[in-house]
This record gives sequence, C-alpha cells and structure tokens, in this order.
Amino acid sequence: MSLLTAPRIHDGRNWLPENSVVEVADDGTITAIHDGAVIAQATQYHGILAPGFVNVHCHLELSHMKGVVPRHTGLIPFLQTIPRHRNDYTEEEKSTARAAAYNELVENGVVAVGDIANVADTLDVRAKDELHVHTFVESLGFSATPQKQFGFSEQVYEAFSKQAGVTKRLRQSIAPHAPYSVSEQLFRMIDEHNKTSLLSIHNQESNAEDEYYMLKMGAVQTLLHSLGIDDRFFVPSGKSSLQTYLQWLSPSHPFIFIHNTCTTRNDVQVAKTLVPETYWCFCPNANLYIENRLPDVDMFIAEGATICIGTDSLASNSQLSVLAELHALKHYHSHLDWETLLQWGTYNGACALQMQDIAGSLTPGTKPGILHITNLEDADSCTIHRII
Ligand SMILES: [Zn+2]
Repeated sequence: MSLLTAPRIHDGRNWLPENSVVEVADDGTITAIHDGAVIAQATQYHGILAPGFVNVHCHLELSHMKGVVPRHTGLIPFLQTIPRHRNDYTEEEKSTARAAAYNELVENGVVAVGDIANVADTLDVRAKDELHVHTFVESLGFSATPQKQFGFSEQVYEAFSKQAGVTKRLRQSIAPHAPYSVSEQLFRMIDEHNKTSLLSIHNQESNAEDEYYMLKMGAVQTLLHSLGIDDRFFVPSGKSSLQTYLQWLSPSHPFIFIHNTCTTRNDVQVAKTLVPETYWCFCPNANLYIENRLPDVDMFIAEGATICIGTDSLASNSQLSVLAELHALKHYHSHLDWETLLQWGTYNGACALQMQDIAGSLTPGTKPGILHITNLEDADSCTIHRII
C-alpha cells in the first residue's frame, strides 16, 4: 500500500481539496482518498497527480503512414490518399510502426484506447496487454447491397473476439466508418448485428458531408464517383448526415461521434432527443492537420454535451498524446479551465469507452493508473510520468 500527495490532485472529474492523499494498493487499485490527517506519511510529488488518460479515437493500424499526407490538404484529398498508399509498405514496416505507436501511447500516460480497425492487423499490439482496448471494427460500404463488405467486417470482428486480455480489458464492436462511406443498408446491418453495442462514427468532419445528405451534390459526390461508386440508390434527406443516419440505428447503442468540426447546435439538440447516451470526441490536432479548423467547442459546452478526446492516427497527427490534444484546445480556447480539460481526457473518455469501472478516475475500487504531470500549463516543458 502507498500514500501519494501533490499540491494539486485531479480525480478525473474535479480538483480534490488541498492536502488530499490518495491511498493505492500494491496492485494499483485505489483504496481510499484521505484528507490531510495522513499527509505526513505520504510521498510528496510536486506538480499534479491525475488518473491515466483515455484516448477515445485512434487508428493504430495506420501508424506507418505518418507524414504521407501533407497538412491542410482537406478531408476529401486526405480520404483519396490514405487507401491509395496504405499498402505501399511491408508487413514488417507496418508492425514496427504499430508497436512504436502503441508504446508512444503508454509513454504519454494513456491507459485505455478506442482503436479503429478495418483489418485484423492490430491483434499483435493488443496482445501486449499494457492498455485497455476497445477495438471498433470499422465497416465501409456505400452500396445498396453491402453484404460482402459487412461479411468481411464480421470476420475481422470474430478474430478480435477470440483474443482475451490477461490483465487488460479487450473489447470490440462493429462500427460504421462515416456517413458518406456507409449506406443506409449497411447502417441497418451494423445495427442488427448487436443493438446495444458501443458505436463510434467519423461525424461531420467536412461541410461536404452535410451537403451530400441534404442535396446529393458537392465534393462527397465527386469523391464517390472518383472511387467508381454508383450512388444512384442514395436519396438525399434534406437533413444533416447526423440527423439522417441516427434514424437508421437503434437508440439503445451508446454513441461516440468523432471530430464534429461541422456539427451545429441543432444537430446536438436533435441527437439528444434521439439517443440517450452520446459522447462527442474531439481530435483537435487532427482537425488542424487535415482541415485546419476546430469544432464549435463553446456550443458543445453550452449544450451540456459530454466531451472526450482522441488523437486520431499518425497519418493526421504528429504524436499520440491526449495531453497534447488538451493543449491544442487550450491554445485556441484559453478560457477553458484545466479542471474541465482533464475531465475530458480522463473520466469522460472512460465513460465513452464504457470503462469507468476500471479507468478514468481516482474512485476507490478502480485501477486507473496514476500520472505525475509537471508544468501542466506549458505545452513545451510539461512532462508526464506514470507512477502507478
Ligand atoms: Zn479517425
């Protein structure tokens, strides 16, 4: 058992009162939070103590594509470049990059990750058993008859389902890629597969997505045609993508919406009426990398949205660090306070991945990992060390 204290301790939701002491069992389980009475026996850290970070959105399988797409190319050229180049590498190059990216997450204080998988490549890193992983087996198919594409996703899902973690939690679900790459028919198949599964979706990352759903025109249509996709089956709804596809999925799923750079107040309000459990994941550095814009953060806060954080992949980010994402948000929205930002990077992320019983807060009975952070406010000099 050990007792730990620091001038500021964040418990995943709030700053604890001054002089609080965290009691941790030898296996990392939080056993109690004490007031100052035991402070003399506690190990004193300077800086901050906080639970381990939760990275809600990552693509470890794309780790070998770092720097392949230049910055600020826009989403549509980005989407055209990734599939064209993702197989220009040997299996060894890919697995080396995956392993390095996984280690980078661990070194940056991440304890749990929501990871996108189109194929079963990341079985190798999941087996390292240092992170809790929810793998979103991402299905793509913009077709009226997507049986083949869904069948492939089912095979990938089965491969992940067979893998069990020894000490870490490994879970998986089949999830839609994005509104412009998943047809109504495929959304319905994903829904039928498991009506209560955790879903994530790349949501409203560009205005072209809503333009396509409302009017069936614009850059998404050009993208589909350039990929040889026949979209005659698609009927525009006159509504945003989010307000359309949510009608094709059961409200019993918890939903994680990723990116949301073009999401409006009306979208957030409608999502609330359609789905009881929603999480809004921001990946600011990836948004700045691809489209050079950020979501309307203040609107989400005003609407009471539950916000969490992802890094996206190394194809659209220079690093895999939740803290670097929080620094990016703080840089562009200086009025955000660190109490809130740290909650987004820890507890809210754990709730989004349905892992709040093990990670994301210093709640007794959980095993969240404990980080020692110095110089939190300075992006260039701050440090993160995992002490538990
Ligand atoms: Zn992504």
